[in-house]
Amino acid sequence: MRVAIVGGGIIGLAVGRELLLRGADVTVYDPAPEGTGGAWHVAAGMLAPGGESAFEFPFLEPLLEASNALWPSYASSLGDVGYDEAGTLSVALTADDLAEAKREWQHQKLTTLTGSQVRDREPSLSPRIRAGAYSPTERQVDPRKVVAALRFALDGRVALKHVTDISEISADTVVVAAGLGTAALTGLPIRPVKGQVLRLRGEPGLLRHVIDGAADGRHVYLVPRADGEVVVGATQEERSDRAVTAGGVHDLLRAALDLVPGLSEHEIIELTVGHRPGTPDNAPILGRLDDRTVVAAGHHRNGVLLAPITARLIADLVLTGAADPLLDAFTPGRF
Ligand SMILES: Cc1cc2nc3c(=O)[nH]c(=O)nc-3n(C[C@H](O)[C@H](O)[C@H](O)COP(=O)(O)OP(=O)(O)OC[C@H]3O[C@@H](n4cnc5c(N)ncnc54)[C@H](O)[C@@H]3O)c2cc1C
Repeated sequence: MRVAIVGGGIIGLAVGRELLLRGADVTVYDPAPEGTGGAWHVAAGMLAPGGESAFEFPFLEPLLEASNALWPSYASSLGDVGYDEAGTLSVALTADDLAEAKREWQHQKLTTLTGSQVRDREPSLSPRIRAGAYSPTERQVDPRKVVAALRFALDGRVALKHVTDISEISADTVVVAAGLGTAALTGLPIRPVKGQVLRLRGEPGLLRHVIDGAADGRHVYLVPRADGEVVVGATQEERSDRAVTAGGVHDLLRAALDLVPGLSEHEIIELTVGHRPGTPDNAPILGRLDDRTVVAAGHHRNGVLLAPITARLIADLVLTGAADPLLDAFTPGRF
């Protein structure tokens, strides 16, 4: 079977590799596969199935959990992609931050830890932190390494092309996995949700866990890589511009330094902006659009987490024609 994938971001490449492994003849189309346009290039790579998304959109939870369960074996099949199982410490600085965080921790059935219990696990956290919770199943991966590994697996099969009309592509099946670009290609309602992200670098080892925190109402996450890089993210803005703003950077840095004062010695190595591909119900669009076209897009805040399950379910759909019941809530037809 000849399959064309439109979009060589993390979703298109993951679907392409899965189809290739199962014997399909795959071509991926993307004008910028090295990718500063794709959201994956900015994403922190938190694999957080029980986080905010599950709390706000409970119908997403089974899909997030199913993909999280695939990540350990998926990561080892790709090689070194920065997959790290230290887990996530959620922390709250003030009484108000704690009141808000507790609702999420209760939903996730996590035990509340005192400030000193949290610091026993992560000594560089501020002594001002009031409380926290440890989630061992919320891990991290480096999306840039994942995309590099997927591109390696698809070597020679990525064509540098911006697709404007999918009817002009010759293939038995076309999978549209173009992130935000999916809207113009299919008419589906996918909107940009801007996120500003900083990357810091310092001595490795300051932080061990992913830190997901609130400091005086400012939300921030800190994702420490083994080489000393710390990803600090992210704003969430209903905008399509690419400006790095004083207010955005200030809010992220202020919360980061309130929670981990030792970060003040780190060097700022990158300021980036990405756009999450959001849908009206903030869940992905996964399924058949017509006889020849399948959509895998709109992954919003969780495209890295959802890459393995998306690859598996979309490959099943393309090769067998049968849709797994897990896809029922995510069909394009709901819009
Ligand atoms: C600030 C920020 C932080 C994030 N943090 C996380 C996180 O911690 N964990 C997580 O799971 N997710 C996170 N995400 C979300 C995640 O990055 C996205 O959900 C994911 O990248 C979506 O993957 P995608 O392949 O559909 O789209 P993208 O990664 O955006 O890639 C789309 C690709 O399609 C190509 N394309 C577009 N139009 C066309 C066309 N017409 N023809 C050909 N090619 C085209 C583009 O060039 C691009 O390469 C974050 C996102 C942002 C912005």
